[in-house]
Amino acid sequence: ASPDDPPYLRGLNAPQREAVLTTEGPVLVLAGAGTGKTAALTARLAHLLNTRKAWPSEILSVTFTNKAAREMRHRVGRLVGDVVEGMPWLGTFHAIGAKMLRRHAELVGLQSNFTILDTDDQLRLLKQLIQAADLDEKRWPARSLAGLIDGWKNKGLTPAQIDAGESELYANGRGQELYAAYQARLIALNACDFGDLLLHMLVILQRDRDVLADYQRKFKYIMVDEYQDTNSVQYLWLRLLAQERKNIACVGDDDQSIYSWRGAQVENILKFEKDFPGAKIIRLEQNYRSTPHILAAASGVIANNSGRLGKQLWTELDAGEKVKVLGVWDGPEEARRVGEEIDTAQRAGKSLDDIAILVRAQHQTREFEDRFIATGINYRIVGGFRFYERAEIRDALAYLRVVAQPADDLAFDRIVNVPKRGLGDKAVARVHQLARAQGIPLVTAAARILDTDELTGAARKSLGNLVIDMARWRAQVTEIPHGDLARIILDESGYTSVLQAEKSVEASGRLENLTELVRAMEEYDSLGAFLEHVSLVMDNEAAVEEPKVTIMTIHAAKGLEYDTVFLVGWEEGLFPSQRALDEGGTNSLEEERRLAYVAITRARRRAIILHAANRRIYGQWTSSIPSRFVDELPLEHIESESSMAGGESLWRANWSERADPFADVARGTGRGPGWQRAAGGDVAKPGGSYASRTFTREPSRVRESSAPAVSIGNAG
Ligand code: ATP
Ligand code: MG
Repeated sequence: ASPDDPPYLRGLNAPQREAVLTTEGPVLVLAGAGTGKTAALTARLAHLLNTRKAWPSEILSVTFTNKAAREMRHRVGRLVGDVVEGMPWLGTFHAIGAKMLRRHAELVGLQSNFTILDTDDQLRLLKQLIQAADLDEKRWPARSLAGLIDGWKNKGLTPAQIDAGESELYANGRGQELYAAYQARLIALNACDFGDLLLHMLVILQRDRDVLADYQRKFKYIMVDEYQDTNSVQYLWLRLLAQERKNIACVGDDDQSIYSWRGAQVENILKFEKDFPGAKIIRLEQNYRSTPHILAAASGVIANNSGRLGKQLWTELDAGEKVKVLGVWDGPEEARRVGEEIDTAQRAGKSLDDIAILVRAQHQTREFEDRFIATGINYRIVGGFRFYERAEIRDALAYLRVVAQPADDLAFDRIVNVPKRGLGDKAVARVHQLARAQGIPLVTAAARILDTDELTGAARKSLGNLVIDMARWRAQVTEIPHGDLARIILDESGYTSVLQAEKSVEASGRLENLTELVRAMEEYDSLGAFLEHVSLVMDNEAAVEEPKVTIMTIHAAKGLEYDTVFLVGWEEGLFPSQRALDEGGTNSLEEERRLAYVAITRARRRAIILHAANRRIYGQWTSSIPSRFVDELPLEHIESESSMAGGESLWRANWSERADPFADVARGTGRGPGWQRAAGGDVAKPGGSYASRTFTREPSRVRESSAPAVSIGNAG
């Protein structure tokens, strides 16, 4: 480093500088979390611009999210000034793909003003095609087909490239036929889906030498962040564009590959050297983000994965606090503890903006949202909707509202044909007309219209069923617990079974959300009280500028960092997810472990891991055991605490019963089957009080794990 260094080089370590200054030829930066990969990439961009090696329009720079692109633009702007304004090719794969495709749309039969379909449109279209192909949509759901097509597009496969084996995955070998029909239909509609943005471009680049040569000449430099999560089509696309000049710099971390379910291929890292012989491989080993304890905890967990490229990490930061592992009684207590910790942090002068709560599954956010609303902690949900704003929750709430309050026309209108029950727009319009003419609620109008002969056939039958169902549910409001009623409504309306038939990751997430909704309801005395709570929640959007705690999934947190991070729900079946456990084998489990690694390494100074001994599902208490990842945390870097009465013995009992998850984990503590739903539907808690004790886990229970690849202290 010299005093004449431009600002963007100041403070960079030697390998980072190398990554910045090696502008020519292929470069692969392979390094662990928080080692300044993104920082180096940003500096590299500034350097290319500052030294006039390229114009802003001559650099292709791919980030994983739009947010990351904005961030990079902002930072480069600070380093080199306005010149960054004209960086058209800085963005996500999708954003860049869309921009390119608009210029060449005609080469694949589209016009440049093509529309990009969202998932709903995509499904509607597929449903039409499935019907046209005379297939039973119940047996061959549109969502399954959508999933397959997405998968093929992620692999860079056009319909012509689908082999019999792949085609066999849908409707006894009709996969390819429907994929082809779908693509043809999209073209006819002058539309494409997200997958097409890259696939069409790939096809164009492969087919049209002039276009390819143009871009190869144009993009003097190519840079890719989060390279470990690129999928095949993205990889092929990059390789084509870079093949001529070979000035491509990718940064990534094999331990943070967490999108294989979306077709990401960590092997792309290994292929890099083969495709770009002589590539310079740079390793960054100094972590600037996290304290030694946090780093060691993360390294200890990830050391349990096999087949890693392996890296050393060290940090100069102060040891800081140990990672806190907090065992709590149940979900509500988990939310309460997190809320209390946040309060304390706030009183100590921390901003809510510096705090994040990371969940494994979307449905987990609900408990925290409710708690924070009750106690007035501002929060934001990143990469998703707030719980009560999610589509399936709104649908379910609409049913409940009509049942509770028949005059709620908005709610009725929302669900009158959800799930699809064969009511055409015309039939629904007739109901509206009658309601208006007679000044009565839609529900009443629906009943009255059946007394006439205005509706016939399927419409008459399904509206009739709905009216009967509604009346029955309404009669049950005072008869059965409202949580049970909600479940009955979701089942009898067909809402649940439609989702169950889909068998997609997305659908199972929606089902989990609905389960969570029922769980939330059970915390209120009546259906009315619950609905009242929801309307208050919906109205509680804090002002934009105010600091807020961030709640998001681990997936959405990739590349980000926060001073304090709460890692919640670290229990077997939740994290690692039940899906990963059911699948068996090491692949999905190792991906979950990489998620754990990503999660821990988001924290700068404080990481607090929580696990609850009980979760309530449909009014049943289920005991859970701490995640195996908790077990894998190196003892010397954590501090454990349990807030349960007799916490130590109970927790130990949990540990020792790990081999048999169905065992009564709390044998001898008075908890057992008789405990579930004590009289009155409420559950008492053992001991009545919450004694808080700190203790260290019994070392003999900790599995020997290979030494974490971390050395702490002042290396270098
Ligand atoms: P991830 O794998 O999580 O994406 P990363 O390798 O991209 O992490 P960055 O986000 O670039 O890491 O950097 C982590 C933190 O370290 C940031 O706060 C960044 O500003 C800081 N940092 C990076 N390089 C240096 C450096 N040379 N000196 C001081 N701080 C640095
Ligand atoms: Mg990064």
